[in-house]
Amino acid sequence: MVSNISTDALRISKIVICCFLFLWTLCLSCSDQDKVSPPYKAYVMYLDKSKSTLGTPYYSLGSKELTDLKDISKLDGTYFSIREGGTLEVDTSGGAFISAEKFEKGSTPNIRYKLKDGVIIPKDYSSLIMLSVFYQFQEIFGHLEEYTGVIPRDIVSTADNARMSIWYEPVVTDKHENESSSSSEIAKLNAAYLQGNKQFVLFQRSSLERVPISANLSVLAHEFGHALFEYSFYGNKYNHDRDEVFEIDPIFGMNEGLADYVSFIYTGVSNILGSSFLFAEDYMQRDFAQTTFTYDSMKIKAIKGSKDDTELLKNYCNGGYYCLGTLFARSLWEASKTSGYDGEKRYEYLKKVLSSLTKARDVLTPMVSEFTDRIETENSGTQKIVNTPKVLSLFLYALLVNLDESLKENLCSSLVKNFGSVMNKADHSGVCPHVTFSVNRVNLYDVYEDF
Ligand SMILES: [Zn+2]
Repeated sequence: MVSNISTDALRISKIVICCFLFLWTLCLSCSDQDKVSPPYKAYVMYLDKSKSTLGTPYYSLGSKELTDLKDISKLDGTYFSIREGGTLEVDTSGGAFISAEKFEKGSTPNIRYKLKDGVIIPKDYSSLIMLSVFYQFQEIFGHLEEYTGVIPRDIVSTADNARMSIWYEPVVTDKHENESSSSSEIAKLNAAYLQGNKQFVLFQRSSLERVPISANLSVLAHEFGHALFEYSFYGNKYNHDRDEVFEIDPIFGMNEGLADYVSFIYTGVSNILGSSFLFAEDYMQRDFAQTTFTYDSMKIKAIKGSKDDTELLKNYCNGGYYCLGTLFARSLWEASKTSGYDGEKRYEYLKKVLSSLTKARDVLTPMVSEFTDRIETENSGTQKIVNTPKVLSLFLYALLVNLDESLKENLCSSLVKNFGSVMNKADHSGVCPHVTFSVNRVNLYDVYEDF
């Protein structure tokens, strides 16, 4: 009995000590944290559109209103919420489009700040970036209907709790740890969109970044572009059983291209990664306005001369299906201008493209599997081999056939200029009656080729 009492007493004292320590720790973290209530103003990193040009984004640090923030201790907006840390298990079978993932133990962000003249001043890097991410997503959702025609509550309706979640710097584990695939590939990713889950992931920071990827509106708007591709092409929710047929490079490429174009719509900037990375070679290839390679020219990889030679780099692309995306984004950009949708009119152009994309899957589904084969490989099981030019051609047909009549001719011309032999007359003469097809490789579709 005595012993029991003493044990209980010991327990109580432990609990008291623990509680005391816990409260003391809490006090430590809050004693110098000034009290603040909405409406919030915070010091964030943001894109200064007034100083940016097409090829050169300009980022600034400054005070911005976080009008969509109700509680600084949660970082929840109306349509999104930010989670910090946690573990992410991924299956990178779809390249940058991660699938079959799960999250664990992410926590409510811990923003450390002080107040100066009523403005929240972040005390450390993570706090600055998470506040900046909040601001950028507030801007993305705030302009969503105006820029894209998509209503915010519609696009989040298929997300958990009707909110998209943004995971800041989770620890990434690989489902296929023992296979040759992809830990290293994941490490290369800097931000990703998890289609089917309506979640964004912002990976651990890198010493190579200038403007941090997480605070780069071009990158976040690009990732949001994948959400718009899912919204329009996949009927607002990617369904693996139904849509697995589209898990192929040409469709990944078109998804990337739309995402680049959406990024441009939001920012007016075509150089999406240039502001974040010092080494230009790979990232310059993503700039659809500066590069000049075409589908038929980009296989030519020989670069003579300096790697910093921007003229040579314009005609070169080795970025896999991202190169197809650059061609698609460039086609949309050029055609929007020749059709008179320059400047702020570009929003209307995107709306018409998204409207057509909404109908494209139904056109494409019965045709696409014909041009994809599965083969057994020694190491990694079944692999898909796809006739890239044929599937690209069909995708572009499916987009054109439902497009606003007044836009077809210019987009056809621009697609022929950039995709060349892909735009086969047999597929496109019906939707592109005014265009002369200068290239027509007779046996193009007889071969399965990697571009
Ligand atoms: Zn992407």
